[in-house]
Amino acid sequence: MIPVRPSKIVCVGRNYRAHAKELGNDVPPVPMLFFKPPSALIGPGEPIVIPPTSQQVEYEAEIGVVIGARLQGASEGEAEEGIGGFVCVNDVTCRDLQKTDGQWGRAKGYDTFCPVGPSVARGLDWRTLEVIGRVNGAQRQRAPATDMQFQIPFLVSFISGIMTLEPGDLVATGTPAGVGPLRDGDVVEVEIPGVGILSNPVHDGSRR
Ligand code: ZN
Repeated sequence: MIPVRPSKIVCVGRNYRAHAKELGNDVPPVPMLFFKPPSALIGPGEPIVIPPTSQQVEYEAEIGVVIGARLQGASEGEAEEGIGGFVCVNDVTCRDLQKTDGQWGRAKGYDTFCPVGPSVARGLDWRTLEVIGRVNGAQRQRAPATDMQFQIPFLVSFISGIMTLEPGDLVATGTPAGVGPLRDGDVVEVEIPGVGILSNPVHDGSRR
């Protein structure tokens, strides 16, 4: 079951310095935003399907912020108050298409490319969160939320100054260093201690 029904999924690129560096980028001077379509959402246990158009599909473990109130031009304080909860997000990405396309709509937008779950955790302090990514049980990513270049209240405030955030909207706050490929048969996990573990199998869509 998909635990969120966002009108939009707003994602933040290059928000951890070590991850920006591993892909040969600098952190941007302001948050770099892009979208995933709500049609990409899947819930825990549902398969991530590798499309035949990509040779390099990668996981990105991220902290998802679920908006709890309508936010328009919110201050950082109002933004923090307006957070409804947190959820694990996997920002699945065709790394090859991301590079060749320039725009990221295709690389980030395939059906099944936005696993979320296991459920929305409420009442947590964002300062205490950390995110962990695993493939087949092996840890590949781990970082505290406080490692972000742009911290969660600032991000929500910044985004609300551009577009009105509605209750249920989802903000994917960027991924730490350690991204890597997914292959048919893998099981990928995103864990946020206190929130839970989001686990999804990987299927190569061209094989079946
Ligand atoms: Zn991402």
